[in-house]
Order: sequence, then C-alpha cells, then structure tokens
Amino acid sequence: MLNQINEAVSLIHKSTKTIALTGAGVSTESGIPDFRSASGLWSKFDPMEYGTLGAFKSDPEKVWKMLAELIAIDSAKPNTGHKALASLEKQGLLKGIITQNIDMLHQKAGNINVVEFHGSINSFTCLQCGWHTGLETVNQGEVPPRCKSCQSILKPDIVFFDEQIPQHALSATTQLITNADLVIVAGTSCQVAPAAQLPHIIKQHGGAIIEINKEPALSGLADIVLAGSFSKIMTALIKTLQQ
Ligand code: ZN
Repeated sequence: MLNQINEAVSLIHKSTKTIALTGAGVSTESGIPDFRSASGLWSKFDPMEYGTLGAFKSDPEKVWKMLAELIAIDSAKPNTGHKALASLEKQGLLKGIITQNIDMLHQKAGNINVVEFHGSINSFTCLQCGWHTGLETVNQGEVPPRCKSCQSILKPDIVFFDEQIPQHALSATTQLITNADLVIVAGTSCQVAPAAQLPHIIKQHGGAIIEINKEPALSGLADIVLAGSFSKIMTALIKTLQQ
C-alpha cells in the first residue's frame, strides 16, 4: 500500500489539474449509510414509491416520510477524508469536486468548488409557485414544510430517480472532467448512470485515475488503486504529500 500511496502522491505532484469524483462511500464513515446498502434508505423505502418526482407530485405527504429521514443526514459531520480533500483544495492541489452526494459534507469540510450532481438538501423549492428557501427554515418548522406564499408542500432540490441531472451541474461536470489530468475517484463504483460514463470520459481526455474504494470497481480504468477506508487513505496521502 505504501508504494501505491507514494505513486499517487507523485501523480498529484505532477498534475496541474486534479479533481475528485465522490460518491456514497466517502460519507459512510460520517455515519451516513449508502442509500443503496442493506441498511440504507432504499432498503426501507421503495425508491419507485418514495424516490420519484411522480410519487412526490401525487402524494407529497407520503414522500416526506422518507424525506424527513433523508434530511436528518444534515447532522452528520465531515470525516478526516473530507477534510483532507478540503486541505488539498486550500493548497491549490485540487481544482474541484464532483459529488453524487447530497449531504454537503464536502462544503462543511471547507471545499469551495463543489458540483452537486444530484443536488443537495441545502435548499427547497415550491413546485407550484417557485418559492425557494434554505434548510434552516425547514429545520425550524413543521414537517412537511410548506410554501410561505401558496402553502404547497416544498420539495428539496435533490434529483429524484425520474428527474434529469440539472443542466448547470452537467456543464460544470463536463468542464471539470474534460480539463482534468488527474481524477481521484473515491467512494463510488461508478456503476449507476450517468456517473458510469465519467471514468471513460476521463480516460478519453487523457486523464489519469486514482481509485479509492473499499471494493475497487474501476478495473482497467484506474491507474492507481487504493483499496480501503477513504478517511485512512486520504490521511496517509496528505501525510506523504507534506513530507
Ligand atoms: Zn408556492
């Protein structure tokens, strides 16, 4: 492992445009189970019944039973892996993060340039009149939260299963991915579309990939595979970088 860490650090030093692509696996050590895992949200709530815009529109109160549990992830704290990525950005060694997570832990750790592929629980919108508010308002009020203007039930600005990735997130992602010469892929197996295409796009544009996963999944695509805990590996990376 030490060898691979050294190789990863040397790639980071050589790179002029390193970015990170993260998924659920980086937040499990912050106490947020992968939604798709055996103890995750979707084991409790059928995604087709609770995780679609169609379901929300037809019965928002029912979908809010799931959302109430989902927004509780706001109490989670960034782990040392998140903090290590924030320190890389601060040092000018990381240009940005594309995350599939909606938990805002990268921003809480201190990262500035974060593209949220699936939106986040940070803001809420009224589908009827477009009224917009932040998580603080929702946390302080009743569940389900209602629009101050027309009293409709609010929807978090997360991307449901039957929704498209927001255009601004797609274009920011394309820009980061196609310009990167090194991508740290962490906590995601990139098996689910549209994130599934991203490692291939990185390679097509000549970027190298450092994969950090408990169970490596990018065989044939990753240049360096660091198998294990995200927080431990990132801590080791940062230590070696500073030597
Ligand atoms: Zn409204």
